[in-house]
Amino acid sequence: RRAAGASYLVGLNPEQREAVETVEGPLLVLAGAGTGKTRVLTTRIAHILSLGLAWPSQILAVTFTNKAAREMKERIGGIVGEEVEGMPWLGTFHSIGVRMLRRHAELVGLRSGFTILDTDDQIRLLKQILQAEDIDDKRWPAKMLASTIDGWKNRGLTPEQVPAGEGATFANGRGKMLYAAYQARLKALNAVDFGDLLLEGIRLLRENPDVLAEYHRRFRFILVDEYQDTNVAQYLWLRLLAQGSRNVCCVGDDDQSIYGWRGAEVDNILRFESDFPGAKVIRLERNYRSTGHILGAAGHLIAHNEGRLGKTLFSEGAHGEKVTVTGAWDSQEEARAIGEEIEDLQRQGHSLSDIAILVRASFQMREFEERFVTLGLNYRVVGGPRFYERAEIRDAMAYLRCIAQPADDLAFERIVNVPKRGLGDVALRQIHEQARAAGVPLQEAARQLVGSDALKPKVRLSLMDLVQSFERWREQAAQMPQNQLAEIVLDESGYTGMWQKDRSADAAGRLDNLKELVRSMEPFENLTGFLEHVSLVMDTEGAAGQDAVSLMTLHSAKGLEFDTVFLPGWEEGLFPNQRALDEQGRAGLEEERRLAYVGLTRARYRAKVYFASNRRIHGLWQSSVPSRFLDELPDGHVEVTESKGGTGWGGGQANGASRRYGYGPSRFDQAETFGSTYSTPGWQRAQAAKGGSFGGRSGGAGGSGGFAEPASRFGGV
Ligand code: ATP
Ligand code: MG
Repeated sequence: RRAAGASYLVGLNPEQREAVETVEGPLLVLAGAGTGKTRVLTTRIAHILSLGLAWPSQILAVTFTNKAAREMKERIGGIVGEEVEGMPWLGTFHSIGVRMLRRHAELVGLRSGFTILDTDDQIRLLKQILQAEDIDDKRWPAKMLASTIDGWKNRGLTPEQVPAGEGATFANGRGKMLYAAYQARLKALNAVDFGDLLLEGIRLLRENPDVLAEYHRRFRFILVDEYQDTNVAQYLWLRLLAQGSRNVCCVGDDDQSIYGWRGAEVDNILRFESDFPGAKVIRLERNYRSTGHILGAAGHLIAHNEGRLGKTLFSEGAHGEKVTVTGAWDSQEEARAIGEEIEDLQRQGHSLSDIAILVRASFQMREFEERFVTLGLNYRVVGGPRFYERAEIRDAMAYLRCIAQPADDLAFERIVNVPKRGLGDVALRQIHEQARAAGVPLQEAARQLVGSDALKPKVRLSLMDLVQSFERWREQAAQMPQNQLAEIVLDESGYTGMWQKDRSADAAGRLDNLKELVRSMEPFENLTGFLEHVSLVMDTEGAAGQDAVSLMTLHSAKGLEFDTVFLPGWEEGLFPNQRALDEQGRAGLEEERRLAYVGLTRARYRAKVYFASNRRIHGLWQSSVPSRFLDELPDGHVEVTESKGGTGWGGGQANGASRRYGYGPSRFDQAETFGSTYSTPGWQRAQAAKGGSFGGRSGGAGGSGGFAEPASRFGGV
């Protein structure tokens, strides 16, 4: 078979080559961004296959996303050709976990064909359990219990293993008992949740030595990408499997650990050497991805973190263009300026698929999506739905549709029991029957039912409340700006409250999205105009298979690379995120900084950072403080530019704590931005309202002022 001179080895540097060829024994590749870690993994698999050291089915390879798994498969195929009939054990922890459990379901008390519960099912089940235990779901929400249990599962703890006293806060110390009850219910239903995929896998391997032995024989080689983001359960699972052949290769970068909030533990990297004594550690130091300026900027930034393992990183390529930092007046102008830069790049012959916009929070996407629709630029949202397709946005829109279009049955069905108000399937069926009998839309049928005595008293009261609310909102719609109406509707319907009470990790992001939705309504004359606008935006199909700009969060950009990367929203409170700033200690802030490092190092040739001097929240101007990360970028690698948008408030006018970027103009405490024309930028109106005075400093104190919220119904994020 092919040997040492094989073509796929040519071009690797000596360290990479060593990592590829060291197939026996434990190996840790610890290296910075863009040094070829993923490439080493891929080539290593190809190497193993072409030397005939293993069959494709004898290799276990873990990637962080399904997309990464597909790409790796393709690349391996590209090297070794059709010899690879796919690799059944190449995938994410979850996908491999399912596969393993399916083969041995009965050994962990499941039947084959077990179901995997999604989050909604999980919550519903936990609610039933709380009910059965007579625990008040209002005081002790099921979602809170769900995230406690997920946390335990991420740490590899079964109910019996949860240390006494842990989770004592939940329902006066009954958390552990509830966890056990939940697991028992899952078994009875022949179901697992996501956390179980590994937890049950661990139990399977621990309790069944023959099964473990079978996998030890099977997996001749184990490889793991993005090792820094494994959690304890994943780590335990891996360690069990790797004790067989001990041919385990993990690659990672402690500076890119960005999932601490989901239970990932960087310490797993440190444990590797103690768990696998004699493990070889290879460091890769040459970055092949980015130009010198980009690397210099990123390296300087991440050096502000304490507690790093420490790495050298250099690039032999050109210095290239400096990282640009651009101040825009507000987020709308930020989107406009980035849109123009993209059009410029396009005119110069760059293809859109080489361009990405990486945001800190998903709500930032909306402004870009709308701008791209206006410009006719193809874009795709990677790793998530587009803004108006998000569940919480669809819910909120459904309320608005019910107001503007009383005959919109789909919208009514969507929200009749969201949040839960006792109008479940039975009630909905009755409403449907009435609608059919009377030949009227659902909302009208509901109104008729409320006037009859066909419903149970409780149901009737609840439905009456909803029907009357819609009538009230419809009257109000004619009297107030649409965004104000939307805020009232989301508040009075209990929809905002539902997410405020929600303890799951994504609840805060959903609240941000709702705020962004309200904000986006500001320029519209009336509700109908806004709804039409959204259907137009929605109508532009996702750019599948076409040349398109990628729009995604920093978190989902891990491992990817683009010629040009735009990084908008570098403002205190947004990035670093407010929740990280509020946290005790440095951990949260350092994770944000690693995220910034991940962002910058996605770029091959151009990294373009933006910040807006003002973010408008609920029609209230909030001046924002440029991110501390901007100050951590070294002068020599950075160029501060004026926004092309024209109204830009660029850098260089420093008058505050921020060395180069100064603070934005003062807060405009006005409410006059509920304008009626779409074209006048809000700030001009604001300026007029204030007599054009821009002076003064931000009201917020250093770290956290910029994004501080005015007291509002949306509080509690
Ligand atoms: P990240 O930390 O961002 O996941 P990584 O360490 O996994 O990065 P890769 O994505 O494997 O890095 O490689 C970065 C880029 O450098 C890729 O485009 C890859 O093809 C290229 N590359 C890696 N090694 C070499 C090499 N020896 N010669 C030329 N190009 C290389
Ligand atoms: Mg990689």
